[in-house]
Amino acid sequence: MQNKPGRKLDVGLRILGGWVGLNFLALGIGFLTLSEVFATAFFMEPARAVGINALRGDMGALFLGMSLFCMLGVVTVHRRLLLIPIVFLSLIIVGRLTSVLMDDVPLVAGDALIAEFIMLGILLAAMFFTSGPAGQNYPPVTARSIFRQPIMVGLVLVLVAIVGIFASQRQIGMTLVRVIGKQLSSQDVLADLPDGLHVVMAGSGSPLPDSKRVQPCLAVIAGKAMYIVDSGPGSTLRLELMKLRLGDLKGVLLTHFHSDHIGDLGELILKRWANGANREPLEIFGPPGVETVMQGFNLAYSLDSQYRVAHHGPETVPPSGMGGVARPFSFPEGKEELVVIDADGLQITAFVVDHRPVEPAVGYRFDYKGRSLVISGDTLPCDSLRRQAAGADLLLHEALQPTMVRALSNVNREIGRTNVANISTDILDYHTFTEEAARIAQEAGVRRLVLYHTLPPLPVSVADKTFLGDAKKHYSGPIMVAVDGLGFSLPADNHKIVKKWFW
Ligand SMILES: [Zn+2]
Ligand SMILES: [Zn+2]
Repeated sequence: MQNKPGRKLDVGLRILGGWVGLNFLALGIGFLTLSEVFATAFFMEPARAVGINALRGDMGALFLGMSLFCMLGVVTVHRRLLLIPIVFLSLIIVGRLTSVLMDDVPLVAGDALIAEFIMLGILLAAMFFTSGPAGQNYPPVTARSIFRQPIMVGLVLVLVAIVGIFASQRQIGMTLVRVIGKQLSSQDVLADLPDGLHVVMAGSGSPLPDSKRVQPCLAVIAGKAMYIVDSGPGSTLRLELMKLRLGDLKGVLLTHFHSDHIGDLGELILKRWANGANREPLEIFGPPGVETVMQGFNLAYSLDSQYRVAHHGPETVPPSGMGGVARPFSFPEGKEELVVIDADGLQITAFVVDHRPVEPAVGYRFDYKGRSLVISGDTLPCDSLRRQAAGADLLLHEALQPTMVRALSNVNREIGRTNVANISTDILDYHTFTEEAARIAQEAGVRRLVLYHTLPPLPVSVADKTFLGDAKKHYSGPIMVAVDGLGFSLPADNHKIVKKWFW
């Protein structure tokens, strides 16, 4: 017979073990029935059809299996069955810690890791300190010892819950749309940021398709003023998914007029107009040529704008605010830089870069309350950029990895895609190589280097290491390969550079 304190401990540990089992059960049912919702909570990529299949199958099975053996371990006499969820939970923790070491990501799932350690502790305690069966021998696991009435009732309840959730998917869908819609509309990223200079990568890729990167577009926020540098195809939706309110957009700065830098301008201008009931057209800054680009976009969107005014009314979409207005700037004779915006403590300096035969092409430097960041635009290594980058907190430099691009070009040539192969070879002469960007950052004494406009595409993060090559040998500060959703905060009047995920 057990004494009283021992029995209390036994019951307490079994209850806690049961609580762990219920957590796994909720996750298992969740992944099986509402896979995408639970995937989002676990920071997984939005799942497409095949991904949903894997989430329902793999993740559902993992958690339901862990729950089953957890419950059997605490409800039946077979406490050693707890070893199964203990092993899986330990492996989950090992995987998470491996990711922290390997992936250069902040510990976004820190809360989950703490919860997992607590659950592991409970299960270990429940396995070692709950009372085993009387006598020395561990009883064999038999059908009769497992399929007892309470367990059968539990299994039926789980089945009913799963069927119930599947049967009420329409109602659940409506509720979720309301909840998510409210969250999206009420969230104001700008209001939540501290005073300072911030940059968000809405598009960090190049014209070559990359599942993790759309074409170039960077949002720069100084205080409460948001500017967009370049508007590459696909980037407007990214900005919206990152909950940046386009209605509040102050202006757009174009580095040059290659399609990968202007392709989404029409959408960006339209969304800014429709979301903010703006009464002034959006200002689009750029070197000479920006007038031609804006004439084209304004003309292309003129019919759409008329439909929208007719449909929603001038109060909702004021006709005076439609479209964009070109604000061209030219460098004075003998000068390679020019302050193009100086307002509310923010100074934006445009400077000449070398992207010949594309002329003019520029980069931008942002200064706000003692913090600075420089965006290269598309360029070969050039002195004006080195000068502008001097002492900057953050340099966002375009980068091309020549060995990888040549390899990709050869693959295209082998399979008969000669034109793509030729273009891949041509681009080698007007972009900066990864290691050169690192050297520039070292010479300019910038505090952190971020490589964007990545060529070739890097669809898996393990390729980032290949992309960097020997860059780290040439630059003593931290280097990072940009990916959409990544951002950096430079709080006003201090020296911190905080990495943030906006998506
Ligand atoms: Zn270009
Ligand atoms: Zn480009």
